[in-house]
Amino acid sequence: MRVYFDNAATTALAREALDEMLPYLTENFGNPSSIHSYGRKSRAAIEKARKIVAGAINASSAEVFFTSCGTESNNMVIKQSVKKLGVQRIISSPIEHHCVLHSVQTEAGEGIKTEMVKINSFGEVDYEYLESLLKSSDEKTLVSLMHSNNEIGTLLDLERVSALCELYGAYFHTDSVQTVGYYPIDVQKLKIHFLSGSGHKFHGPKGVGFVYINSAAALSPFIDGGSQERNMRAGTENIYGIVGLGKALEMAITDMERTRQYIAELRQYMKSKLDNELADVSYNGFTDDRGHYKLLSVSLPLNNKTDLIVFNLDIAGIAASAGSACTSGSEVGSHVLAGINAPQDRKAVRFSFSKHNTKEEIDYVVEELKKMVPVKQLAVAK
Ligand code: PLP
Repeated sequence: MRVYFDNAATTALAREALDEMLPYLTENFGNPSSIHSYGRKSRAAIEKARKIVAGAINASSAEVFFTSCGTESNNMVIKQSVKKLGVQRIISSPIEHHCVLHSVQTEAGEGIKTEMVKINSFGEVDYEYLESLLKSSDEKTLVSLMHSNNEIGTLLDLERVSALCELYGAYFHTDSVQTVGYYPIDVQKLKIHFLSGSGHKFHGPKGVGFVYINSAAALSPFIDGGSQERNMRAGTENIYGIVGLGKALEMAITDMERTRQYIAELRQYMKSKLDNELADVSYNGFTDDRGHYKLLSVSLPLNNKTDLIVFNLDIAGIAASAGSACTSGSEVGSHVLAGINAPQDRKAVRFSFSKHNTKEEIDYVVEELKKMVPVKQLAVAK
């Protein structure tokens, strides 16, 4: 049996998205900047996808810009808000994705003040501490906090953070790479200034993302060149990628509630099975609706089998992740697990689900895990 439980790392491309992409890899090859019919066809496809993205987050189409990935979107917001908006201070958290953390570090190296919020052992932001930081200075501030953590799934209270940002006049950026297409997001209601998304996390293609930039917080381009993306992101557009992202997001939004229920049930099923059958299991982050429904970060006792658990699972045909995909395999400790003070004598393994997974797959994975860690002894009736 082969099982793919690594959907926080990436998801399978939806067949329907591929079908929409194919003509733009073949006969519809026009450059969207060309004014002839070939170009116009490509331009129309991009604008259709932009409308879908804008609709998905309740933005105006003019506020959505396509990029090469979530990483680029996050870099753009952090670096260009300093350059264009005069941001003097960035508040972020120690468990952000590296593309945010390293961008913040780059800005720190340029003399921008950076402050990190405190987080608790579940990865939850200390909102009172965030308020105290916001209150402590009049400097122009960008708050950059992720909507869902990619390793442990902990969710941010977007409403609470945006209210604080509004109260203290700060810009609010949220890295929503793990939540776009999974949760309803309304940038107008929530007064979010910047939001990042990435196609491959919701069954779209890799190498394409988007950034929402509120019209009241317009940035300057991160990549200079031609006038593509209304002068905000130069470079000939990745048309088939954009078309695939649009189609995948449209499907994710249409099916969101049904998919959420299905995946949330899988997660609950796996947790119950692990709780019932393993002698010593705990979890990193929340296992209720304070954590992303697609993700279960399981904490197991360290032994000679769990030490290399991702490799051992792989031998059994199971794809999962230790911490995040970016650190797994490199034997570099996860900054997220370190950030929540996860016990060092235990091994974390992240299982993340999609609508393609089944309970039968979970049964198989749990059986394989039972070969690696102590199992619960059943009480024998006398
Ligand atoms: N932010 C988060 C929370 C992520 O999980 C990821 C991908 O793992 C990224 C950003 C980067 O996105 P991309 O792979 O599109 O560069």
